[in-house]
Amino acid sequence: MSKSLTIALSKGRIFKETLPLLAHAGIVPRDDPETSRKLILDTNIDDVKLVIIRASDVPTYVEYGAADIGVAGKDVLLEHGGEGLYEPLDLNIARCRLMVAGPVGQPEPAGRMKIATKFVNSTRRYYAGLGKQVEIIKLYGSMELAPLVGLADRIVDLVDTGNTLRANGLEPLEHIVDVSSRLVVNKASMKMKHVRVKAFIAQIAEAVAQRQPR
Ligand code: AMP
Repeated sequence: MSKSLTIALSKGRIFKETLPLLAHAGIVPRDDPETSRKLILDTNIDDVKLVIIRASDVPTYVEYGAADIGVAGKDVLLEHGGEGLYEPLDLNIARCRLMVAGPVGQPEPAGRMKIATKFVNSTRRYYAGLGKQVEIIKLYGSMELAPLVGLADRIVDLVDTGNTLRANGLEPLEHIVDVSSRLVVNKASMKMKHVRVKAFIAQIAEAVAQRQPR
């Protein structure tokens, strides 16, 4: 195994908020994924590459060692299950909450509720914990639409400002879990590239601490 480092990231919010942390570790990508179509980005360091993939694929790339390190939301990690990964650091970026939401003022219907979500595993665990029998309807996006057209009674989705819910006549009802992006590391890479990976984690941890002194 070469000592090179491959870091898996998704475009958008996570990429933008991870850039300053990478810069603190001395890593600067040579291309911008928002304008480039490249999926593998070179950086100023010859043997450090970034792979740009869907957020929900990051744990899989890291689990199988196609990337040594990744940045993924806790929501994605909870869905994936986190097997084969270390999760050494909370980056405190892309923060939001996973919540149950429903139409404003609509009481919980009697009987088995229909819950639309793309977070099937987290939703199943949440309602199992409450001892409630629900029917989970898997969607891939625009969950807010489901209660408006009678597809579901409730949704489980990420909420940040709450503007998306409000704009669709929905309100947050129950808080399931706080979400932020985490650094994840392939277990073999942690062993085989220990010095390099540990140094990287330490630099990123320092950047996180400096940005948000607590
Ligand atoms: P908001 O309107 O600010 O509450 O944002 C809610 C919308 O943005 C929903 O469609 C969410 O799925 C998405 N969203 C909010 N925060 C995040 C996040 N940290 N990561 C991914 N999607 C998010």
